[in-house]
Amino acid sequence: MADERAGRIADFIEPLRVEPGSDVRLDRDFDPRYKAGLKKRDGAELLRSGVSLLAEYQERLAAQDTYGVLLCLQAIDAGGKDGTIRHVMSGVNPQGVRVSSFKVPSAEELDHDYLWRYARRLPARGEIAIFNRSHYEEVLVVRVHPDHLVRQKLPHDACGPDVWDRRYREINRWEHYLTDNGFKVVKIFLNLSKEEQRARFLQRIDRPEKNWKFSAADVRERARWEDYQDAFSAMLSATSTKWAPWYVVPADRKWFARICSAAVLAHTLMDIDPQYPDVGDEARRELLVTRRELEAEAPAGAAADPYADSRRSGKRKRG
Ligand code: AMP
Ligand code: MG
Repeated sequence: MADERAGRIADFIEPLRVEPGSDVRLDRDFDPRYKAGLKKRDGAELLRSGVSLLAEYQERLAAQDTYGVLLCLQAIDAGGKDGTIRHVMSGVNPQGVRVSSFKVPSAEELDHDYLWRYARRLPARGEIAIFNRSHYEEVLVVRVHPDHLVRQKLPHDACGPDVWDRRYREINRWEHYLTDNGFKVVKIFLNLSKEEQRARFLQRIDRPEKNWKFSAADVRERARWEDYQDAFSAMLSATSTKWAPWYVVPADRKWFARICSAAVLAHTLMDIDPQYPDVGDEARRELLVTRRELEAEAPAGAAADPYADSRRSGKRKRG
């Protein structure tokens, strides 16, 4: 049953995976409106089951305390990163998840190597960390606006024309190192069309409760649409690896983007297949001794084990 489910999820996300070594051109290779033949009304149920699957696996991940998961979310403005995080993680225990958003780097951050601020937010074992924007901004916004690179105060020979290829290599190696040490890196690119971005910007302008999400800078960035598409394509081509492949999630339909994102994360967790630790026979024997002592402490009139009935019937009545 679990295997069958894992197989279905693997098949579902396969068309979204960027084959390592392939030469991606976003506009040619990925359709922002793709929806795998699904209808929006099937979507809610699928997302619900995805969310509960994630909750179950996250609990096991935390209990096992061996692996950590880093989910990187990248997208153009209005691509749906915030909503994806809100919906996909809605069922998981907040204690096991850490979300970090990356903005324009601070003076302190600029005083370090470019991966420093991301390394500080990595997950611990047992945790899922979500990067809302990630180290990939270092080859996206920084590439589109090289004045950001100037602010990084690199030595002269470290910011020549080969800087982007070098960064791709460094990022790949960093992710390889993390993976080898038990930290899986999951990368989702929310692929939005230019027309859908226009529509979402208009909503942000029209709805007072969405105004805060909109800035004039967003329109300036939109004017650089083609440059961003090129930077995305180059990033996907160079940094989709066997150990940390990219998934390009069609983002024009929010409901579908959320299902895909949940599926990609679930796939990773099922692959890890974390197990509750087994305490061993001796520890279990000690637990049973303690159990008898606790039962003997029952005050007059109280049941030896007040939960025994509800456990037998599979229900939890108290607590
Ligand atoms: P938002 O996610 O809408 O709050 O915006 C965050 C802003 O920070 C975006 O405009 C990003 O392009 C920008 N940003 C994120 N990382 C970097 C970086 N490493 N260098 C320069 N700008 C960045
Ligand atoms: Mg923004």
